[in-house]
Amino acid sequence: MDVLELVSRDFEQLQVLRDDARGVLAFVAIHDTRCGPAFGGIRRWRYRNPADAAADALRLAEAMTWKCALAGIAGGGGKTVIAELPNTDRRAAYALVGRYVEEMGGRYYTGPDVGTEEADLALVAEHTRFVAAPGPAGPGNLAAPTALGVFAGLRAVAERLGFDGLAGVRVVVQGLGEVGGRLTERLCRAGAVVTVADVDRQAVERVRASCEVRVVDAGDVFDVEADVFAPCALGGVVHDLSLQSLKVRGIAGSANNVLASPEHGRALHERGVLYAPDFVINAGALVHGALFHLEGAAPAPERIERIGAEVGALLDEAVATGVPPAELALQKARERVAATGAELPFLPAGRARR
Ligand code: NAD
Repeated sequence: MDVLELVSRDFEQLQVLRDDARGVLAFVAIHDTRCGPAFGGIRRWRYRNPADAAADALRLAEAMTWKCALAGIAGGGGKTVIAELPNTDRRAAYALVGRYVEEMGGRYYTGPDVGTEEADLALVAEHTRFVAAPGPAGPGNLAAPTALGVFAGLRAVAERLGFDGLAGVRVVVQGLGEVGGRLTERLCRAGAVVTVADVDRQAVERVRASCEVRVVDAGDVFDVEADVFAPCALGGVVHDLSLQSLKVRGIAGSANNVLASPEHGRALHERGVLYAPDFVINAGALVHGALFHLEGAAPAPERIERIGAEVGALLDEAVATGVPPAELALQKARERVAATGAELPFLPAGRARR
């Protein structure tokens, strides 16, 4: 679906931020804030063209709305995408995003995503209060709760594959960054047999320093015979070609938008592959960051570990009803937004009067 088709759906806002002299082109997408302020991180990535970058922001923002609804967070979906250009001034890009997020006055709270590091967030925090800032004033590293939630969800998948815990479960992890690295460490400690792949050798070596893992080339990740595939790199990895190769019985990882299309979710379901929907299993960062922002304190780990039970219940219902888990989750999320959301988009107090 292209960017025009996407915006013509139920999005509230797509803002373009640009500063041509400094190579800055960014998109802030707000999907649905009827349940509360939008939450969503900043992705910095090289895209084929601006339309692809805008479409990515929109798709990611929409997933955040459903993520909030299913995780019981009084918020909605947003996302910022910085389209990396050959001449992008990184500092100028994050500063501009920070200024705009502040201008939104609390309608949108942002944080990390792929390509955004702590130093970038610190820069954003110089310009806005509405960011998961690094350091003592902020909620802490959000990849840790994400990894904890994915770990709990992966365990729920393994249990439904007949395992008692994770000892001996063969897991293949794609992407060893902030989340994948932490997830791999947890899996190894729990006795799983882990195979890993990353396009970045340094990321592989970092993990190898603390865990006993088998390493395969990034291009071979779909050929690994395993119980569970944990996609922790980018989205769109379950597609026609990878479906032909995948030799796993479950999929549970942190990556957003794992399925190239809903049809791929149906194909997995028909094959009996248990797929833990991305916007359910990777909600750890959202739950941690949003509750820190909304309630002023980070939640206890048990609040994040609840994701395991949520994934398990969804998979059980999918098997019982014959509806693929991603479709079931989306249906539930839409129902919750319709039932609990206000009539109009969220506007922070003070903004509405301007
Ligand atoms: P990251 O940038 O720290 O790590 C991504 C890793 O994937 C990098 O090491 C990169 O080299 C690797 N990679 C990229 N392409 C690859 C490929 N084709 N094969 C193998 N490895 C590849 O990102 P992250 O914060 O760990 O996030 C990982 C995924 O989880 C992303 O899709 C992100 O949107 C999603 N996610 C992250 C969080 C979070 O809290 N960080 C929360 C929710 C969802």
